[in-house]
Amino acid sequence: MKVAVFGTKSYDRQFLEEAARGTEIHWHFFEPRLTETTVPLAHPYQAICCFVNDVLTSEVLEKLAQGQTRMIAMRCAGYNNVDLAKAKELGIQVARVPAYSPYAVAEHAAGLILTLNRKYHKAYNRVREGNFSIEGLLGFDLHGKTVGVIGTGKIGQLFAKIMHGFGCELLAYDIQPAEECTELGAKYVSLDELFARSDIISLHCPLLPATKHLVSDKAIAQMKRGVMLINTSRGALIDTKAAVAGLKSGQIGYLGIDVYEEEADLFFENKSETVIQDDVFARLMTFPNVLVTGHQAFFTENALQAIAEVTVENLQEFVAGKTLSREVKID
Ligand code: NAD
Repeated sequence: MKVAVFGTKSYDRQFLEEAARGTEIHWHFFEPRLTETTVPLAHPYQAICCFVNDVLTSEVLEKLAQGQTRMIAMRCAGYNNVDLAKAKELGIQVARVPAYSPYAVAEHAAGLILTLNRKYHKAYNRVREGNFSIEGLLGFDLHGKTVGVIGTGKIGQLFAKIMHGFGCELLAYDIQPAEECTELGAKYVSLDELFARSDIISLHCPLLPATKHLVSDKAIAQMKRGVMLINTSRGALIDTKAAVAGLKSGQIGYLGIDVYEEEADLFFENKSETVIQDDVFARLMTFPNVLVTGHQAFFTENALQAIAEVTVENLQEFVAGKTLSREVKID
């Protein structure tokens, strides 16, 4: 079966080709993302392979269904960009890769904390320029700090373990508490208490209607002055305008994000010669205590290999007419 891959990068091609070798899955790689404009490219393919910033709204799905496509293999865990109700109505199945390397994301979150705190990015540049001054690089011990983990699923639990290793006190919030976290000594508390008591807050819950703008101006006002806020989950968990206001007032002391609510038009592309039109993002870039990475938390060899292998398995189940074991659907 030929499968159209949207938003292809060189690394997608490398790992997907390797995983499909010797199978009945053959890729047709397209560089553009799936959007209302590019959706006709999908028409001849029974299955397509998409990523986090492909547009799978009801309008795009309607157009997709006018062609052959009956399956979408998401090469990621999140599926907040897919209108699942519309997919179901149109008879299009959606499968995903529920877990690939939760270590990759948890480790990246820890990396954002260390970089914001100890300013490795600044130190690297200074030393390269022969400037060995350590003025302005002052950090704090992580040991003894209180870390609030919101969402203690696969990634949140690993992140909690890492921070426990640093000697941090752990607070947690989840609608389904995990024993593994309690065993580490984490205390499940209300969101209000987590906001009020944490020195560092890290987001690891999915983006759902209930979690959109979980970090709002009201939530930020409840936090400790100078709090460090980390988001490696999904951009819209944070109301970015509220975060900008919090940074300006000093209420937020550090912001480390791998995801941004309007990232679709920016991330995964080289925009170095382009004038950025997003004024909120441009304002974020002016703060010395903001660190943004472009949705790279998942980006390890281990994760890409696992994503490609599971994506091929999902497609093989579809070809064989089997029940999709990693299908995402609404009841
Ligand atoms: P998971 O499903 O194992 O865990 C999610 C946790 O969030 C669960 O424990 C769930 O009970 C909890 N949750 C659900 N609704 C909640 C709510 N309203 N409030 C608090 N907690 C709630 O998922 P995971 O594998 O740990 O991934 C977490 C998120 O990380 C994903 O949703 C995805 O958006 C993001 N992610 C980002 C990257 C990246 O590269 N930046 C890569 C993979 C995943």
